[in-house]
Amino acid sequence: FVIPDFQDFTKHIEDFYWKCKSNTEGKVASYIPQLARMSHDYWGISVCTIDGQRFSIGDVNIPFTLQSCSKPLTYAIALDQLGSDVVHKYVGQEPSGRNFNELVLDHNKKPHNPMINAGAILVCTLLKTLVIPEMNLAEKFDYTMNYFKRLAGGEHLGFNNSVFLSERESADRNYALGFFMREYKCYPEKTNLRECMDFYFQCCSMEATCDTMAVISATLANGGICPITEEKVLKPEAVRDVLSLMHSCGMYDYSGQFAFKVGLPSKSGVSGGIILVIPNVMGIFAWSPPLDPLGNSCRGLQFCEELVNVFNFHRYDNL
Ligand code: GLN
Repeated sequence: FVIPDFQDFTKHIEDFYWKCKSNTEGKVASYIPQLARMSHDYWGISVCTIDGQRFSIGDVNIPFTLQSCSKPLTYAIALDQLGSDVVHKYVGQEPSGRNFNELVLDHNKKPHNPMINAGAILVCTLLKTLVIPEMNLAEKFDYTMNYFKRLAGGEHLGFNNSVFLSERESADRNYALGFFMREYKCYPEKTNLRECMDFYFQCCSMEATCDTMAVISATLANGGICPITEEKVLKPEAVRDVLSLMHSCGMYDYSGQFAFKVGLPSKSGVSGGIILVIPNVMGIFAWSPPLDPLGNSCRGLQFCEELVNVFNFHRYDNL
């Protein structure tokens, strides 16, 4: 086993869980009512090692929408299907140093990276227009959801239609980003922007539990092979690229500090989730809706910091 004394390890996870549970800081996202209604108290951690050992504690079976945690997944599919050269003709690899939804492009008039809204919207146009152009709308949705499901080893993954409809209704900034990029001819030819915006909202509105997301995280930790099914879902080159950008750009405007303090690839979303990948060891998912001013889950962030204070998982711990 990659974690020889798994029981002892999970005792520590349990300690961290209780420690973070008493953290009552943060505010639940309120830009749509479906997120605003989420309880402040929800808190769950799920762990899945690359050899399939699992542990979870707290609210690990309550579905929430993936929101920005879908960004590394759509980026992974694009890389896997098109290769890095093609994808990065359209989107950069640089932290933006700006808000995740800021109306800004890089010096080459491309979105800075695939982990912010502009870059993720662009990746959605690549999937729709270059990867699966021959499919109709329903087939494109199924294709993507099935990919997510394979990453999750077939565990529960759903779609929240009211979140989707709400996202679309309150998406002025995302539409602005979409049109801004069209003005700068960022998209592949034949892109239907409105359909791609819908597709972006659909990806944000995919729904999963902590347990499901820990398996997805573990598939990334395992170089693209799902530890539960042994299926090779992504090429290791694609996973390498995804983890690189999660490391530098995954935590909004806290990404640099997170890379410094925790030193692990991660991605957070506005519904309060954090995908935390310990390459070649395990995937972790932490979920709690209250967010700090930068948009990261307060309990989730505290958990990541507690974890590397006790275990030497930081990229540069073993020098
Ligand atoms: N649906 C949200 C948006 O596009 C997702 C952003 C996020 O999770 N930070 O604004």
